[in-house]
Amino acid sequence: MFTKITSYDKIYPYDFWSRRHKNLKTRYLQFNKKDMALAGELIRRGELVAFPTETVYGLGANAFDEQAVKNTYLAKGRPSDNPLIVHIWDKSQVFDIAREVSQDALKVIENVMPAPITIVLPKKDVIGDSITAGLDTVAVRMPLSVQAREFLHSASVPVTAPSANLSGRPSPTTWQRVAEDMDGRISAVLCGDDCAVGIESTVLDLSRDEPVILRPGAVGAKQLSELLGKQVKILTDPNSKVNSPGVRYKHYAPNVPMVLDLSEDATKLAEFYDAKVKEGYHPVLWVRFPERFSGKNVYPMGTKIDDAAHGLYEHMRILERTYDFIIASVCPSDEGLGVGVLDKLVRASGHNLI
Ligand code: AMP
Ligand code: MG
Repeated sequence: MFTKITSYDKIYPYDFWSRRHKNLKTRYLQFNKKDMALAGELIRRGELVAFPTETVYGLGANAFDEQAVKNTYLAKGRPSDNPLIVHIWDKSQVFDIAREVSQDALKVIENVMPAPITIVLPKKDVIGDSITAGLDTVAVRMPLSVQAREFLHSASVPVTAPSANLSGRPSPTTWQRVAEDMDGRISAVLCGDDCAVGIESTVLDLSRDEPVILRPGAVGAKQLSELLGKQVKILTDPNSKVNSPGVRYKHYAPNVPMVLDLSEDATKLAEFYDAKVKEGYHPVLWVRFPERFSGKNVYPMGTKIDDAAHGLYEHMRILERTYDFIIASVCPSDEGLGVGVLDKLVRASGHNLI
């Protein structure tokens, strides 16, 4: 059904894990009563279970079990100073986790959640330092995905979850991609639906005087500004003093060179493509309108922004295996999902704009 890529074990040495879990056999669970109960029990026992959400697949651990949370970092090979999001299935759980819930936070909880949004609030002591990387705040998310909430309800504890990929790989949006990265490293994968949105949640910091979007996603600044009756800014400078440890990290970039064009100018793109062919590359144009380029390698990005987001990480995994130079092109957008997609593409291209 999938190929386990064993060479990753060399890149991500997992000594502690393999000693503890020799011959760890990952279970592939379905959405039936018996398997859901088992998934919840595994979480409560301190095991790691990957599960679907509407954004990307998450790698779940019991938020109240410090060792389980630490194992998440080990399983992913993720730096432990990058904090984790705590996932809940019921709005009332926010008050178990957060020390203060401001008026703005109440509005978001009431009117937006459940949604592909994460809110950052001052944390209660029950939330350990290994979750927040020592910060005084906690990131909370209630997924829109019914499958995600069923799983969280079955776990009956808040569940920390980063994306269920090895650190440095694209986030998985299907259970098969989770299996590719995590087979033999985690206890179970819940085999649910493909992720509807396809990119990570909007991260909205509500722990300071002014609300700030630390990471753009499907819930946009305009919608949030209208709701809160004040301007919600998007943090664009990753070196700013605002507390957003995650955005410091390089996000996924394909393992072949990639450039990004924001003009969607077919003549310019065709010329750039031809120049790369002359240099000896086997390039591909990853564009919204592939029919504009006859006789060239093209890959459709999806004409609508929802489609572009939905397939973004999956396309990157496919393209880097097939071609040795990616020429991506999008029309820049300043709202909602468009900002999120652009952010991921800019990072994937290493800020290499043409
Ligand atoms: P990921 O697990 O890859 O979806 O990344 C989690 C994101 O949430 C990162 O961008 C983190 O920086 C952000 N995050 C988690 N907890 C906090 C927090 N307490 N304060 C600010 N950002 C946070
Ligand atoms: Mg991630």
